[in-house]
Amino acid sequence: MHRGNFQQLLLRHIRHEIGETSIRLSQKLVAFRSVSDHVEVDFVNPSTGDQNTELAKVLVGADGINSTVRKILYPDEGRPLWSGVTIWRGVTQTDKLLLDGRSLIVMGDPNDVQLVMGHVSKNVINWTCLVRVEDPNMQISPAAPDWNNLGHIEDLLPLISNMKLNFVDIHHIIQSSMIINKFPMTDRNTLPRWTHDRVTLLGDAAHPMYPYGGNGASQAILDARGLILSFRQHGVTLQGLQAYDDLRRPASNIVVLASRQYSCDEILKVVHERAPDGFEHLSDVISSAELEAIMSNSKRVAGLHAEQLNQEPPLF
Ligand SMILES: Cc1cc2nc3c(=O)[nH]c(=O)nc-3n(C[C@H](O)[C@H](O)[C@H](O)COP(=O)(O)OP(=O)(O)OC[C@H]3O[C@@H](n4cnc5c(N)ncnc54)[C@H](O)[C@@H]3O)c2cc1C
Repeated sequence: MHRGNFQQLLLRHIRHEIGETSIRLSQKLVAFRSVSDHVEVDFVNPSTGDQNTELAKVLVGADGINSTVRKILYPDEGRPLWSGVTIWRGVTQTDKLLLDGRSLIVMGDPNDVQLVMGHVSKNVINWTCLVRVEDPNMQISPAAPDWNNLGHIEDLLPLISNMKLNFVDIHHIIQSSMIINKFPMTDRNTLPRWTHDRVTLLGDAAHPMYPYGGNGASQAILDARGLILSFRQHGVTLQGLQAYDDLRRPASNIVVLASRQYSCDEILKVVHERAPDGFEHLSDVISSAELEAIMSNSKRVAGLHAEQLNQEPPLF
């Protein structure tokens, strides 16, 4: 499902369940402090400069990789850590299906240039190109991780000029993108705790990670589920926030560290090592049992195994 459609669905659901005024836009959190049994949170409207303060039982900082809440809890942490890879990405409107419309093309070398392309809905193809540009030990990226950084097609095309497939014109798809963004692939070190008194972290604010294997947002969804289960068990209390931390932090920390090991690109790595000059049939290089074992392991580490998830208690 396209992320935008999913967000719209959540928005409609929240408005229906807890009312139209439950969502307020243009409210940038700038500070918070604990006041007896509440937390006071200061917001600024970035367009008008208007300020206001809200009183809440708890504060959940879900404000992304550049989280202000995390910066206040960990003021000395500094900028996110760069992997040495730049991620180019875009979406292309199309009236033609890429293969069967359900396949994902993953090609290239994870240590150089790698392209991932697939449908996010019937008429939209999403592509991502990961380009290793610098010494991987260099930890500070040249650009801050901002979803809205623009990339230019003239800079990308020379990097992928050797990438060709005889059944799809990947260059045409990339050149037809509505917009191209460029993002340094960054993460942060894992934290010893997310919950501090009445404040906790969720999603990228808590555990930004390399998005290998489609991780990141999926972990944020598991966090949200864990938070609800913990509140259900302990109420919207300090114990509830601590139970959420105990439940989700160790599990997502494993995924942050596993993503640094390229775990989800294991298949490309194995195939490249065994057949550096290409192959006729994939089954000559790697067996379906091996493929299944690698995929299954990466889903298990991320907590995204269908059987594992289906054993969890229902939320509603
Ligand atoms: C190229 C790429 C591909 C990816 N692919 C996948 C994938 O296939 N699957 C997957 O699961 N994940 C993927 N991810 C990761 C995923 O995008 C993130 O993990 C996810 O967006 C994190 O969600 P979040 O809500 O925690 O943070 P964000 O999506 O960053 O949202 C944070 C929100 O907080 C707001 N905010 C920031 N500061 C403040 C403030 N001070 N006050 C108020 N609001 C604030 C921001 O405006 C934003 O709306 C990918 C990431 C990249 C870069």
